[in-house]
Amino acid sequence: MSLVERDKKVIWHPYTQMKDAQNPIPIVRGEGVYVFDDQDKKYIDAVSSWWVNIHGHAHPYIAEKVSAQLKELEHVIFAGFTHEPAVKLAERLLPLLPGEQAKIFYSDNGSTAVEVALKMCLQYWNNSGNTQKKKVLAFKDAYHGDTFGAMSVSGRSIFTNPFNDLLFDVEFIDLPTAANISELKTKISKLQTQLSCFIFEPLILGAGGMQMYEAKYLDELLKVCQENDVLTIADEVMTGFGRTGTYFACEQLIYKPDIFCLSKGLTGGTMPMGVTSCGEKVFNAFLSDDKLKTLYHGHSFTANPVACAASLASLDILLADETLANIKRVEAQHKEFFKRIEDHPKVKTIRQTGTIIAIEWQTGNDTSYLNGLRDQLYNYFLAKGIILRPLGNIIYILPPYVISNNDLAYIYQTIQQALDEI
Ligand SMILES: *Cc1c(COP(=O)(O)O)cnc(C)c1O
Repeated sequence: MSLVERDKKVIWHPYTQMKDAQNPIPIVRGEGVYVFDDQDKKYIDAVSSWWVNIHGHAHPYIAEKVSAQLKELEHVIFAGFTHEPAVKLAERLLPLLPGEQAKIFYSDNGSTAVEVALKMCLQYWNNSGNTQKKKVLAFKDAYHGDTFGAMSVSGRSIFTNPFNDLLFDVEFIDLPTAANISELKTKISKLQTQLSCFIFEPLILGAGGMQMYEAKYLDELLKVCQENDVLTIADEVMTGFGRTGTYFACEQLIYKPDIFCLSKGLTGGTMPMGVTSCGEKVFNAFLSDDKLKTLYHGHSFTANPVACAASLASLDILLADETLANIKRVEAQHKEFFKRIEDHPKVKTIRQTGTIIAIEWQTGNDTSYLNGLRDQLYNYFLAKGIILRPLGNIIYILPPYVISNNDLAYIYQTIQQALDEI
């Protein structure tokens, strides 16, 4: 039996309608921005394998560090025990994060990093004796993950539909603009006695369609939150580690959040790991002789040493001058492409932040995720050896930073062809 036939017998794929799913492509190896299938066909991974891979596939330096760690210590329980990779990673991450972050709490993925952040905020008020501040403020089209808490603070959509009744009540607001900022600020001050925290994806809503918004308006929201005792959580799961042109998107803000959520690029995309960081203020609210004020949360694989080793190796690469130069280069290439196609009649909107560029296809009236255009575009690019996963009628490029100008030019040229043909 072929791998695809065996797959069909035993596998249930994510975000996939298994009834009429296309055959999955068997990938046998990766190198730099490429993955290769079993016929040795090469694909450019233009979406960094769901936004996780920042330095390219099978990076030899990360592989070496991971392999060394595996032979030394693969895992140990993290309650009552500690190890060098976990402490070292925290020591290196904290000063890199914007503002004054003091502690790192480890988990397994982006959704769990968000769950931990929400629990920190809700229990912060509980521990402080305030029983009113129980609501979360979030953006209408936000995406914070697929577990129940993370789903609750994400926008209601076709993805959450079967569960909407069970999701906890959240106060949703629009993205801030010049037109609505004062209205949003008034809303926050009015609701402040009930608001525990504000969770947001800084500068860009990823799964919500790569919607971008300006740092200065986010700053205004953060300022009102701070003035009104509303804790703030920056979900940098997608934006972290250079994606928006700075190491963290929040570096582009004046006001800094209380809590950060990190995952995706943390290990360079080699293995799952999540981080929730917080400042002294949040941490101190859990220090008590009263055991009930403890943060009773943990995962079996908390602070897995191998994932920590991968993260440390990924940080070494990220902080090298060459990587920052690559990030700036990708950004500049995107900007030129932007100018070349912004006036194309099929381009409804185009936007760019850092290494991300998103193009919305002109579709007339039907813009739903389920219309055929998405699949048509996806297959068009696959046939040309490019992995792009449109969000409905929105095509975006979010590549590993090592992508060459040649490969970028090939992707741009193929998008231009698609615009002309589809
Ligand atoms: C992907 C993502 C998550 C969820 O991360 P998982 O590792 O897929 O659980 C949370 N927040 C943002 C902003 C994301 O892009």
